[in-house]
Amino acid sequence: MKTTGWGNYPILNNATLLQPADAESIQRTVESSHFEFIARGNGRSYGDSSLSKNMISTRNIDQFIELNKDLNLLTCEAGLTLDDVLRVIVPKGRFLPVLSGADLVTIGGAIASDVHGKNHHQDGSFCDHVHSIKLLVASGEIIECNRTNQADVFHATCGGMGLTGVIIAATLQLVPISSHKIKQSIIPALDFENCIALLEQNSQSKYSVAWLDSKLRNKNFGRSVLFLGEHFTETENNKIIHPKRSDLSIPFSCPSWFLNPYISQVFNETYFRLKKQGHSTVNYREFFFPLERVKNWNSLYGARGFLQYQLVVPSAKGIKEILLAVSNSNDCSYLTVLKKFGESNQNLLSFPQDGYTLTMDFKRTRSIFSLLDKLDEIVLNLGGRLYCAKDARMSKKVFQSSYPRWQEFIDIKTQVDPTHRFKSLQSQRLGLSR
Ligand SMILES: Cc1cc2nc3c(=O)[nH]c(=O)nc-3n(C[C@H](O)[C@H](O)[C@H](O)COP(=O)(O)OP(=O)(O)OC[C@H]3O[C@@H](n4cnc5c(N)ncnc54)[C@H](O)[C@@H]3O)c2cc1C
Repeated sequence: MKTTGWGNYPILNNATLLQPADAESIQRTVESSHFEFIARGNGRSYGDSSLSKNMISTRNIDQFIELNKDLNLLTCEAGLTLDDVLRVIVPKGRFLPVLSGADLVTIGGAIASDVHGKNHHQDGSFCDHVHSIKLLVASGEIIECNRTNQADVFHATCGGMGLTGVIIAATLQLVPISSHKIKQSIIPALDFENCIALLEQNSQSKYSVAWLDSKLRNKNFGRSVLFLGEHFTETENNKIIHPKRSDLSIPFSCPSWFLNPYISQVFNETYFRLKKQGHSTVNYREFFFPLERVKNWNSLYGARGFLQYQLVVPSAKGIKEILLAVSNSNDCSYLTVLKKFGESNQNLLSFPQDGYTLTMDFKRTRSIFSLLDKLDEIVLNLGGRLYCAKDARMSKKVFQSSYPRWQEFIDIKTQVDPTHRFKSLQSQRLGLSR
């Protein structure tokens, strides 16, 4: 079987995807074999973090266990997607405190990557709202870990890329809402300095994100559009609904020349001109998951696939240095997004740290790997790091220099997985498993 992450690179041939029917079957599979595995949620990570010779799909562990309305707590199995959860909780006036930009990410995948949303500067990341986790470890035992019981395993599992075991279920803190709508404000920024000033001035806004035109130089360098959002508060007894998913898809397979710098330039120019300053009310799906309007948008990059490169650095000056290096290269980022991050948390391998995070999508060209190596050096010099959920090529040296708690992580992994049965292509490359 041919398997990939969302970036369609790398491609793993002849891999086995086991699809146990329920949690007990996953437990039996781990208990009764000596295979090496990695858990696979919905394959929305971009690179090779959920790729391995043997993968255990969690998509069939999809039961809702309990909704405690008084405490706003949801306990559910880890193979449910964010969309599955929102479909049930939104009509009951509840929301997930942190959402990734893709709603087809599983709860297990969201915990394993400790995903962040457009509100990291205010609310932290996904695992900051996770109360406890049921984790199937290498011995076949299911343990419950939280901030007081087996806290070291909890902080290694949150953001631990599936390397401590299979997350079977979790208890999540929800937040109350009175509407499914978001009050959105759009503010165009004429250049990079203006974009940063606007992000800072609006840091009291619950949600914020900037789309950037990363190819422009000189006076238009860093031209961008800022999107701000707040939950809408209904005064009337309006019905709260879960807006439907769009079922648009790209009906043909795109050749790799289809996306090119010229198309990107035209698209960016049109996009900037269409996004006029103003306020509107949109449903949460439009605000949080704009890319999900087209199911298979990743196929626009053609069969060679693409690489998403996401970094965090402490200062806006560092982001400028990276954007300049990209705009001076022959490669082009087709989608560039900037967000402000708040403080980091206690999890050993979580990505966010105080500063700015930049995300860029590059076609897999011949020259891209040397550009990304150059960017890695800049990121390291600036005291930043790269996001493992998007990574397909980071070196062990870059990883170990930027995630200072990696050895502590390996020690805890080894306690619950002494022979390193849980491993992925990524963990082997980064030295996180033997
Ligand atoms: C369009 C798009 C937008 C995105 N936007 C964001 C964003 O805004 N913020 C952000 O942080 N991320 C974002 N992502 C990345 C995505 O949220 C993460 O990669 C997430 O981990 C994918 O979840 P998944 O269920 O598809 O997991 P997979 O891709 O299948 O696996 C990812 C990792 O999680 C592990 N894992 C999955 N399930 C389990 C489990 N039950 N137990 C143990 N380990 C498990 C895997 O082993 C692997 O290491 C985006 C992705 C896409 C495609």
